[in-house]
Amino acid sequence: MSKQTTLIARGENFKALDLGGWEEIAQYVTGPFQGKVFLKEAAELSGCEISVGALPPSAALPFFHSHKQNEEVYIVLRGGGEMQVDGKTFPLKEGSVVRVSPAGMRSLKSGAEGMSYLCIQTKAGSLSQWTGDDGVISQQPWEK
Ligand code: ZN
Repeated sequence: MSKQTTLIARGENFKALDLGGWEEIAQYVTGPFQGKVFLKEAAELSGCEISVGALPPSAALPFFHSHKQNEEVYIVLRGGGEMQVDGKTFPLKEGSVVRVSPAGMRSLKSGAEGMSYLCIQTKAGSLSQWTGDDGVISQQPWEK
């Protein structure tokens, strides 16, 4: 049985969840994925899908895949391993960031320490504003 996320707080404009620590990520099961939790439904995301993955030592994702319209960004947070995209293999370690176009045929393998990572999936070419263009700074203090 899969671990479930825990609600921390929610309001009109936010939802906060607890996934647990890295050791607990391994307890999530989604379809063929052991050790992966998808946040779109859990956190009610509307513009992207984010998954948090924890591969145990010397493991691999169960398949290669591409996408129809979404690009993905993989960000390695702990451990490392290898990624293969379109037949090209390269190393991953803590701090590695990889963007893959929708058509890229990809998969991941972990090394001896395992690998914990985020995968952010969003429609290729959809971002029209970001950072300073989209942020609205306020002088509001913390509520007491
Ligand atoms: Zn994907």
